[in-house]
Amino acid sequence: MPLHLHGRMLPGDHEVDCFVDDDGRFSFTPIDGARTVARDAFLIPGLVDAHTHLGINSPAGDGASEEEQVRASARAELAAGVLALREPGSPNRASRGLGPSVGLPTTITAGRFLTRPGGYFKGLAREVPAAMLADAAAEELAQSDGWVKVIGDFLTEEGVLRPNFDPGSLAAAVHRVHEAGGRVAVHCAIRETIDAAVAAGVDSVEHGTGMTQALLERMLLQQITWVPTMIIFHADIAAFLHEMGASASEVARMTESAAQQPAMVRAAHEAGIRVLAGTDAGMVEHGLIAQEIHNLCNAGLSAEAALAAASWDARDFLGLQVIEDGAPADLIAYARDPRSDLGVLAHPELVLLHGIEIPRR
Ligand SMILES: [Zn+2]
Repeated sequence: MPLHLHGRMLPGDHEVDCFVDDDGRFSFTPIDGARTVARDAFLIPGLVDAHTHLGINSPAGDGASEEEQVRASARAELAAGVLALREPGSPNRASRGLGPSVGLPTTITAGRFLTRPGGYFKGLAREVPAAMLADAAAEELAQSDGWVKVIGDFLTEEGVLRPNFDPGSLAAAVHRVHEAGGRVAVHCAIRETIDAAVAAGVDSVEHGTGMTQALLERMLLQQITWVPTMIIFHADIAAFLHEMGASASEVARMTESAAQQPAMVRAAHEAGIRVLAGTDAGMVEHGLIAQEIHNLCNAGLSAEAALAAASWDARDFLGLQVIEDGAPADLIAYARDPRSDLGVLAHPELVLLHGIEIPRR
């Protein structure tokens, strides 16, 4: 049965009557016999987690099959209102094909993590020497949803963070992926890696802990997106790095960078750089997008900008539509205005995934 919703729609803040037809698509032309499911609500086109690893830290547990793990993670994201997500790297290819057709969020996976031999947590990544990075990137692109993920830096055996690839090899890989119509996300902790990623013309910098004002200026010129995953820096970074074998001076350098991150996030947003919400679930549990929205807000983004970073702006980045005529009906309705009270994110009135009502948590 067709549905009818009334309320204020974001972005745009227009009062609308919108309809969902029997194919699960939005229409702004009234449909006879539509059942009213929301009135005087605040309507947004769903939440988006732009950085979540379905294949890691799944609520299904490590003993479950790869397929069960990614599905359980995706269900946890959906329960938090995430209707679309990007997975920037996975230990496997199990996330490919997940989406609304199987009752799960639209999933855009980057295939397997790419790194140098020994350049990431053991067993998680596809390890290739620098000379083979471009070929491997092209192969992962062919198995992904238009994205490739490169682990840009990691701890050496001496406990120091260093770029995994020389700038030329990274640039060659980015060039190859772009030529094939794909996009590249790069995990960057230190300044040198962000520098090489920006020089290579990547599409998104992930984490970007060692961000500087000078790098932000170049990112703005090149329209490179930043997904700072602020949530992971709430953990005890020093203890985590120490446990991984980082040297005392490296622990000190990264702790200082992490402390400056909120100011850099705010500066990036104010400069006009696209900053998106990503939880890095895998490092943390799945379904924490609301916390990252709060983090962006605490860094100095307005509530509306923080919401955009986890909804309509992220959808634009991923090539997904919002609440518009003919678009698949992805929508969350809230009783109160989330721009004046982000706490309402935990209490949606109604969630529609491609027009299908999702039971509330
Ligand atoms: Zn990650």
